[in-house]
Amino acid sequence: MSRTKLLQIGSMSDRMRDALAEAFEIDVLSEQSDRASFLAERGGDYPAIVTTAGLPGDVLDAAAKLRVVSSFGVGYDSIDASACAARGIKVSHTPDVLNDEVANTFVMLWLAVSRDLLGSERHARSGAWASEGSYPLTRSIQGRRVGILGLGRIGQAIAERCKVFDAEIHYHSRSRKDVPYTYHDTPAALAEAVEVLVAITPGGAETEHLVDAEVLTALGPDGLFFNLARGSVADEAALIEALLNGRIAGAGLDVFEAEPKIPDALKEMENVVLLPHVGSATHETRAAMGDLVVRNLLQWQEDGTVVTPVPECRDL
Ligand code: NAP
Repeated sequence: MSRTKLLQIGSMSDRMRDALAEAFEIDVLSEQSDRASFLAERGGDYPAIVTTAGLPGDVLDAAAKLRVVSSFGVGYDSIDASACAARGIKVSHTPDVLNDEVANTFVMLWLAVSRDLLGSERHARSGAWASEGSYPLTRSIQGRRVGILGLGRIGQAIAERCKVFDAEIHYHSRSRKDVPYTYHDTPAALAEAVEVLVAITPGGAETEHLVDAEVLTALGPDGLFFNLARGSVADEAALIEALLNGRIAGAGLDVFEAEPKIPDALKEMENVVLLPHVGSATHETRAAMGDLVVRNLLQWQEDGTVVTPVPECRDL
């Protein structure tokens, strides 16, 4: 049986490659010495793309035969899904299999910021405990008012975990949900009502700077902000300003506006915990995401459908 031509964008695990190799003949975009000539001469040969790094415009423009894009990750702000849908190209992503991991990463960050995990660990490791005495008291996460900006699949998993800490849960989404949590009409109204604000919306133009200076001021000088959504969702300059001037108390950030670059101002702050976009990055969850990427492609090859299309492509 002849294998279907598949263009790989970004890196792929051995497990994914092994699972796809029987059905697909895989070429890797980053291995081509001259990207522009490769796309001009062969970009139109591929009916299928697998990507862990979005879908660049030059690839889409060149992809005359493209029918399916299987993307690794639930967020797909680096893929023009509307343009793909208009051309009848099915785009799939990996929802749900990472909800628990990303929610767990939020809990890890929340505890690290509130209990000053890194400062107290340094105190123990450096010998300062013996020379200077006990570490200063920190803030409990128990019984807090928590605001979830984006009560979707991951937002709901975060809410479940917050219940364990007796949190009072508030949220803002585009739409009100049938849940026993308090809804607020705007991000600023949500921030005003809570002590801990976590952003977990998609990225892209619609959510750009949803968390701005007004929202941070509303969160207040005792407030903590967490971003596990996308760097674009928070106005990073306003966030730095709010942290420097005590408009909020601290932050835990997994995502940044110009990844993998992180502003030096954030790196220098003691009241901030920084992660290199690792919300879903465990062996187990990344394997489950990879398996779903593979299932989407194998099902497409079998009957032309994908298991988990993005909303824009559900009617194709
Ligand atoms: P989801 O189920 O689609 O939930 C997204 C939520 O955001 C929904 O509640 C949605 O509101 C809300 N939302 C969308 N646009 C909004 C807007 N303009 N204003 C207010 N709320 C808005 O997605 P998910 O599976 O939970 O994933 C959410 C996002 O998390 C991903 O898109 C990605 O950016 C991020 N993520 C990050 C990591 C990481 O490693 N840090 C890992 C995975 C995902 P409605 O319910 O009203 O539509």
